Amino acid sequence: MAVEELAALSRYYGANTDYVIAGGGNTSFKDQDTLYIKGSGMALKDCAPEHFVRMDRRALARIWAKTYPALPDERERGVLEDMMAARRKGEEKKRPSVETLLHDILPFNWVVHTHPALVNGLTCAQDGEQAARDLFAGTALWIPAANPGYILSRAVKDALDACTGNPPGVIFLQNHGVFAASDSADHIKACYQHIMRTINTKAAAAAPSLEDYVSEWGFSPAVISALEKKEKMEKIGGCAAFARNREIAGLVRDRASFYPVSSAFTPDHIVYAGSEALFVETSLDSPEKVISAIQSRLSQTPRPPKIIAVQGMGVFGVGASKKACGLGLELFIDAAKVAAYTKAFGGPRFMPQDQIDFINNWEVERYRTRVSTV
Ligand SMILES: [Zn+2]
Repeated sequence: MAVEELAALSRYYGANTDYVIAGGGNTSFKDQDTLYIKGSGMALKDCAPEHFVRMDRRALARIWAKTYPALPDERERGVLEDMMAARRKGEEKKRPSVETLLHDILPFNWVVHTHPALVNGLTCAQDGEQAARDLFAGTALWIPAANPGYILSRAVKDALDACTGNPPGVIFLQNHGVFAASDSADHIKACYQHIMRTINTKAAAAAPSLEDYVSEWGFSPAVISALEKKEKMEKIGGCAAFARNREIAGLVRDRASFYPVSSAFTPDHIVYAGSEALFVETSLDSPEKVISAIQSRLSQTPRPPKIIAVQGMGVFGVGASKKACGLGLELFIDAAKVAAYTKAFGGPRFMPQDQIDFINNWEVERYRTRVSTV
């Protein structure tokens, strides 16, 4: 059955951290009447047939004929309501992916959407659009950065409507990720192999150093253990996890070297690692000095950070639970990889500030954080 094949395809990509991390990405299958879309908050690697939401495609199509309020909050609420109403009978307890509309308009049976760090090295780079055009001439669409949900789907719909000839099966979304679509599940895999290999021919030289924690510390391990202790971190959010590898060590050398990860590349980075890491300039003479430098910077910060980078030391994922801290670090490390790959395409290009604000305020993404971190 198609939905079983869809679950297997989802697990295949979900299990590979080169493609998705932290519950990101989504998949779908459609026939003429029904779209089977991954439920929100469910990780691809854990997908079973019952995790897909059956949607009435006629009801989804009616969304395009409607006019929604211009105010983002009201518009997203209205679209969400209509999307929920498009669930088929018996699906009322499930919540379809935030990218449901986009899946529905792609004129192919199978769709797999992922956020690979390698691909985002292109989609989050200054010269990414030109590189996509050079490397995938005529076979891929490039969509400029857009707010996820209705606005992004609308941008893709307009681009597809404007296509003459065959619709492309590959869509690069600036500051977001990639969609691969085909009428055959096997062809999706061939398509992804082609995307990864092609980008890698240009980006391999910029690949990040991926080894885990380095063993020699440039300072006393007592600093690390003092900071990792819950009681020391209570004012920060209750929990902290530390990471440092060669890539991170290079980034935290000073404020200038931190620039490539100083803002958000994609919506996922905002949801889990926050839109802006707190960079703390300090000397590493004693644990007390480091802690007081962190606390003094925190008192000047309006939004509690999810990542605290300490100069010369490494990065802390901070939050209310171990899981939240771990996810923050995972996404920060992903951003470090993306930043490394962007060197092959003219350097980093962050999300536009208005779109960062949109994600920080968006109810759907808040829901996703809640589902993923409990
Ligand atoms: Zn996405």
